[in-house]
Amino acid sequence: MKYDVVIVGGGHAGTEAASAAARSGARTALVTHGFATIGTMSCNPAIGGLGKGHLVREIDALDGIMGRAADMAGIQFRLLNRRKGPAVRGPRTQTDRKLYRVAVQNFILNQPNLEVIEGEVGDLRMNGGVVSGVVLSDGREILCGAVVLTTGTFLRGLIHMGDVRIPGGRVGEQPSSALSKTLERFGFNLGRLKTGTPARLDGRTIDWHSLPSQSADDHPSFFSLMTDHLVNRQIDCGITRTTLASHKIIRDNLHRSALYSGAIEGVGPRYCPSIEDKIVKFGDRDGHQIFLEPEGLDDESVYPNGMSTSLPEDVQREFYKTIPGLERVVMLKPGYAIEYDHIDPRELLPTLETRRIAGLFMAGQINGTTGYEEAAAQGLLAGINAACRASGAKAVEFSRTDSYIGVMVDDLTSKGVSEPYRMFTSRAEFRLSLRSDNADQRLTPKALALGIVGAARRARFGERMEALAQARSLVMSLTLTPQEASRSDLHINHDGVRRSAYELLSHSGIDFERLTRVWPQLKAIDGRISELLEIEAQYSVYMGRQQADIATLRREETRVIPGSADFSSLSGLSNELRQKLSERRPRSIAEAQRIEGMTPAALALVIMEIRRTENTNRAVA
Ligand code: FAD
Repeated sequence: MKYDVVIVGGGHAGTEAASAAARSGARTALVTHGFATIGTMSCNPAIGGLGKGHLVREIDALDGIMGRAADMAGIQFRLLNRRKGPAVRGPRTQTDRKLYRVAVQNFILNQPNLEVIEGEVGDLRMNGGVVSGVVLSDGREILCGAVVLTTGTFLRGLIHMGDVRIPGGRVGEQPSSALSKTLERFGFNLGRLKTGTPARLDGRTIDWHSLPSQSADDHPSFFSLMTDHLVNRQIDCGITRTTLASHKIIRDNLHRSALYSGAIEGVGPRYCPSIEDKIVKFGDRDGHQIFLEPEGLDDESVYPNGMSTSLPEDVQREFYKTIPGLERVVMLKPGYAIEYDHIDPRELLPTLETRRIAGLFMAGQINGTTGYEEAAAQGLLAGINAACRASGAKAVEFSRTDSYIGVMVDDLTSKGVSEPYRMFTSRAEFRLSLRSDNADQRLTPKALALGIVGAARRARFGERMEALAQARSLVMSLTLTPQEASRSDLHINHDGVRRSAYELLSHSGIDFERLTRVWPQLKAIDGRISELLEIEAQYSVYMGRQQADIATLRREETRVIPGSADFSSLSGLSNELRQKLSERRPRSIAEAQRIEGMTPAALALVIMEIRRTENTNRAVA
C-alpha cells in the first residue's frame, strides 16, 4: 500500500490532519484502531470556550471540520464572557456526543483523496534519516512520503480508579505501547502527563426540579461561517454544588485516590483539577459548583462537569449521594484518571515536523496539550505540512501575530510543557487583533492560497468580504457634526469635528441599532455584517500601537538565522543558553528571543554572531 501521507489516530487531531492533507491534494490514509471511534469525545461533551472557541473559529476559517461538526451537534450554544470585550468572548456549545461523532465520521467518509484503514501502528519505516512508512501490529506495511502521529492519550496509557490500574488508551480501549517503544528507540524523550474524567450519571435519577438551570443563548453564536441556522433542539443543564458532607467523604478517602496515594507520577491539568485536588487546595470553600450536562438529546447519560476524579468507584457512589439533586442518582460509569506518554514539543519545528526525523509530524495530546480544540488546530497544521513535505512544496507556518494556532505552536515548540497545555486568551499578546469574529478575515485568504478551501466556502467568504467592504464604505461615508448629532439625541464632544458613522460606533453607548435611527439606509445591512463593523470600529482606536508591535515581531520572525551559525562556543553567553541554542537551533531572531532565560544582552551577542556568520557566508560565496 502506498500513499502520500499517513495519519495515525482518528481523534480530534487525526481527523483534522487527514482532512487537511487530503484537501491539499495528498493521497491520504487515516490509520486508526476502529472506524467507529473516529471523532470520539473522550471527556466533556462540549466544544469551544474561552480561548478554545477562538481556535475552533480559526480551524473553520481554514475550512477544517470541527466548527461545522460542532454546529451540527450543538445542543446548548452559549457565548462566554458576553459582558466583556469581543476580543475575549468565547463561543461554546454543549454537543450531542453521538451526533458529533457521526458528523465527523461523515466528513471523513465524504472527503475525496482519503481512505480509512483500521489497525494499530507500532513501528515506523525509515529510508536513511527520513520516514518512509508505517508498520502495523499485524505486519501490514504502508509506504508514504510523510507520517503524522496523533495518538492522544493512548501511548502507554494507564487508567487509574483508586487502586485499580488498567492499561488503556480510554476506558475499554487498548493502549499503544509498541509505538511508545518505537519513539524511544528513535531517541525521543518521553514524559508522563495525566488527565481525568468524571463519572457519568443516569439523568432519569436526577431531581432536576429541585435545581437551578442554565439555558442556551436566545441567539446562538455558531462556530462555522457555513452554518445558517440551528439544527437541534436546545437543552438546559442543571447546576448543583458539593457539600461539606461530600468534602468529608473525599478527605477521609484521599489515601485511596490514585492521585494522592502516589500511584500517578504524571502531572495533571492545573486548570481542570480533579475534585480531590479542589478539596485539598481550596479546603476552606463550603462547596464547588457542578454543571450537570446531558450528553445528548436521546441519551440519559449526564456529565457532571467539575467532578473529575481518581477515587475508587464505591467512594464516588457515596459522595454523589451528598450532593443536592443527586441524592438518588445512579452512576452509569465511574470516573477515572489516565496517565500517558507525551513527547517534548521542543523536539518539533513550527511546522510540527520533528527535528529528529524528517517527514515525521506530531499533533494533539501527544505533544503535551489537553483538549479537543488544541488537538484539532495542531492536526490541521500538521496535515497541511505533511502534504507539503510529501509533494516537496514549501512548508506553512502560523505566527503569534496572525492566530491563536500560531501562539499555541510557538508556546509549545519554544517553551515546552511542564503540565498539559490548554489555550487561554491571555496567552495571545495581540488578542485585540486575534478575535474570534475576524478569524476568517485573518486566515481564509491564507487557506485559499494553499488550495485547501472547498468551493462553497470560497463563494461564501467572497460574498461576505464584499458585503463587509460595501457596508464599511457606507458607514464611513455617512457623517454628521456634533450639532447634528445632538439633534438626533447622540451625545458626543462639541468640538466642531464632523464624524463618520464608523467613528461614532467607537463611542460608548452608540451601537449600530442606534445609528439606524439616524440613517435608516443602514437597516439594509445584514446583522452578521453590522456586528462585525461594530466590533471593528470599537477596536480601531486601539489598533495603531498593536499594529506597530505586530510589524516589529514580523520583522524579527523573517530575520532568519543561518544554519551555519554556531553558538556553542560564543563567549559572553551562559553555558545554559549556549546549550539551549545548540539544541533548539532557533530559525529566527523571534524564536531565539523566546528561549527561556534569553536576556537583551544575550540576544545582542546572538545577533552579532548571526552578522558574523552572514559576513563569512557572503565572503565564501
Ligand atoms: P484522541 O482524541 O485521544 O485520539 C487518539 C486516536 O488515536 C484514537 O482514535 C485512537 O484510537 C488512535 N490511536 C492511538 N494510538 C494508535 C496507534 N498506535 N495506531 C492507530 N491508532 C491509534 N481534555 C480537556 O480539555 N479537558 C479534560 O478534562 C479532559 N479530560 C480527559 C479525560 C480522559 C479520561 C481522557 C481520555 C481525555 C481527556 N481530555 C480532556 C483530553 C481530550 O480527550 C484530548 O485532549 C483530545 O481527545 C486529544 O485529541 P487527540 O486527537 O490528540 O487524541
